[in-house]
Amino acid sequence: MRFEEIPGLLALKETLVLSHQRNHLAHAQLFSGQEGGAALPLAIAYATYLLCENKDATDACGSCPTCQKMAKHIHPDVHYFFPSAKPEKEDGKQQSRVNEVWRELIIEQPYAELGDLISVLDMENKQNQISKAEAKKIVQTVSMKSFEGGLKILIIWYPEKMNRAAANAILKVLEEPPENTLYLMVTYHYEDLLTTIISRLQLVTIPSFSEDEMMGYLVKNQGATAEDAIKAYRFSNGSLPNAVADLKEDNEDELHWFIDWMRNCIGAKYDFLSRMSEQFKQISRAKQQIKMRWALEMIRNAILVKGAEDLISSQGPERVFILKFSNAINFQGLELIYKDLSETLYYLERHAHPQMAQLALSIRLSNIIRTHRG
Ligand SMILES: [Zn+2]
Repeated sequence: MRFEEIPGLLALKETLVLSHQRNHLAHAQLFSGQEGGAALPLAIAYATYLLCENKDATDACGSCPTCQKMAKHIHPDVHYFFPSAKPEKEDGKQQSRVNEVWRELIIEQPYAELGDLISVLDMENKQNQISKAEAKKIVQTVSMKSFEGGLKILIIWYPEKMNRAAANAILKVLEEPPENTLYLMVTYHYEDLLTTIISRLQLVTIPSFSEDEMMGYLVKNQGATAEDAIKAYRFSNGSLPNAVADLKEDNEDELHWFIDWMRNCIGAKYDFLSRMSEQFKQISRAKQQIKMRWALEMIRNAILVKGAEDLISSQGPERVFILKFSNAINFQGLELIYKDLSETLYYLERHAHPQMAQLALSIRLSNIIRTHRG
């Protein structure tokens, strides 16, 4: 990953490069941004830049042996730590499988979220923490000599998932690192970190992509039209994978899915609702969130229609459904549905079990709809 591959954020990239050129490298840095944003890719690009044998004033070369190893995430002096349900006891085979899965995920989707790792490892029901055993490994890694004689970099993804024992275990090495050791922690929920950890780190705030930055990326890298790119940006909530998933999504499908869902809720058809939630688990997390945002937009429109029909811009079958739905349910009911949908979306973003969350929501919506007829 080179800086150039990450859309926009020019000022921040410059600051990172200057910290190296001016010899102002803070040995422990906390990259804080939103999920689906640039925090992890930037940490990787920064590590690549620092280690590149042939860097220029703005970026890594992308072709030296170091850059090649970094692209595959196999550089011996760059160590990745992340939450996973790795066994507490040493189990070499299982450990290397988890690491392999992680590498493949990040190569394919550098903007991945923890939820993506959870679904590829199929560990929804397990504790997704950075355990004390993992923290001990961090301490061991710090005490090792660097393989290539230069800088040693520890990239810690989701440090907020460290339990207290793990956090305490690394406090000392964080404070007194051996020379030539750099910690890059990548967090998405800054407020969940222990203050004792935060106080030892230099905060680097990673801004969300602007509309222009994301649109530029979608048009250039995904071949989107400007119109589709704007729509994808609107539904992305700042997450690049969400925007890309939205581009690939057919709106017709969303509409049919939503109509089916609401009909089954109205009819209290629990067997169908249960099947829908099984299918919901099968689709990618990005798509799950898009479906929920789409549903929210439909409900928002149904609420608007109560005030004035001409406020909504939807056309065709979408408009027809919104008008019917708005007529069938009273204002208070629509508001309750909107609130419940937003909350479920919030929990899905925070790695709730998709099948259970969606089914529980369906049952609640079914009740709301039947007790709030228009
Ligand atoms: Zn290079």
